[in-house]
Amino acid sequence: MGFFDRFKKKNKAQAAEPAKAEEAPKAAAAAPAPAKAAVANAGQPTTKTGFNPYPAADLGELLPPAPAGGKIKIAIYWTAACGGCDVSILDTNERVLTIAQFADIVMWPVAVDGKEKDIEALDDGAITVSLINGAIRNSENEHMAKLLRKKSVLVVAYGTCAMFGGTPSLANLVPGGASEILDYVYTKTPTSANFQKDYHADKPVVPQTEIQVPEGTLTLPVVYDTVKALDQVIDVDYYIPGCPPQQESISHLLKAVVDFVYNGVALPPKGAEIGVTEKCLCDECPRKKEYARITKIYEPYQVNVDPEKCLMDQGILCLGPATVGGCNARCTKAGQPCRGCYGPTQLVQEHGASALTAIASLFPVLDDDPTCDEQQIIEIMKTIKDPLGYFYAYTVGKSLIQRTVVEEKA
Ligand code: SF4
Ligand code: SF4
Ligand code: SF4
Repeated sequence: MGFFDRFKKKNKAQAAEPAKAEEAPKAAAAAPAPAKAAVANAGQPTTKTGFNPYPAADLGELLPPAPAGGKIKIAIYWTAACGGCDVSILDTNERVLTIAQFADIVMWPVAVDGKEKDIEALDDGAITVSLINGAIRNSENEHMAKLLRKKSVLVVAYGTCAMFGGTPSLANLVPGGASEILDYVYTKTPTSANFQKDYHADKPVVPQTEIQVPEGTLTLPVVYDTVKALDQVIDVDYYIPGCPPQQESISHLLKAVVDFVYNGVALPPKGAEIGVTEKCLCDECPRKKEYARITKIYEPYQVNVDPEKCLMDQGILCLGPATVGGCNARCTKAGQPCRGCYGPTQLVQEHGASALTAIASLFPVLDDDPTCDEQQIIEIMKTIKDPLGYFYAYTVGKSLIQRTVVEEKA
């Protein structure tokens, strides 16, 4: 019996017999099944976006060696990414070696050999879990995401780029899309402009998607006009936010998968976010809040930041009120405002608009301060550099805005 058959059998048995009471705290809420696996009702509240149900994980203690019958298979892949998410997996330090005790890593381009053809040769559903980080911005990203979806029981959007489009999706705000970006990068930046002037003055050379050479046809991926989040191109089972995620989050996820496969403990509900709380970041931020009115906006470097006071009370724009908790306020503890990389809380869809609303409520209004008028608020707002980029730094791809469009002239 292969792994996938055992996996299906265990799910079937589990669906018939709900998780034991003592296992419930480890399993997440009662839920719909993941893509190919029924999940038992663990008796906890169901949430679409999930929560952080586990204590801090210690992979060394929690993860058992592989049972007779074989290890599970894991794939880790990056699409349009910076590499930070891959490094965050290595942040498990020596415990990353523990993963090898229970899992064969069949693909992880940054760390192990494993080719596309090896993945293609696997049976559908042969990979237990694929962790995909990065956004989808070209045809190769989309092809690999679809291939891994086909071959995997579970797919996880790992990191903010995969979950929301992340910073790559800020490219959606360039009106001319991919062609404008490629033109700028390959002909307008100082280094590329000098290169083109020196070597290709007659006709600038820019990347082509296909070129004939004596040996055959060479191809490059097609760059898309609109950068997408992972679940805008494939079905996604779980989400781990963060730019990059905290290493505890991946420990929680792997523990949940291993607990399920080896011990029959219910998986978190499909669609759950792993490593988040049910509240906003302000609830876990230790800074003291006075909810002072904002009369002037500062960058952190412009003021001597008080280490105790809420940053908003000091005039520094912080997206904590609109951002879901879970990162343990790592930026605000270090004196930097939250930029919202964990995305919105469960109650909010439009992260940027929510942050803007929270901040707007802190501006003086006429009722409170008769000396303040609308023009003054406009003047304060004007001091926010790049408001769209500030409030939507990570979530343009999943926002209602999604991209800039150029209207045809009548
Ligand atoms: S989420 Fe952040 S760390 Fe991860 S790939 Fe995107 S930019 Fe890099
Ligand atoms: S606004 Fe920012 S600094 Fe203030 S309490 Fe919330 S997270 Fe902390
Ligand atoms: S404080 Fe905000 S920006 Fe910093 S890691 Fe947490 S969610 Fe991300």
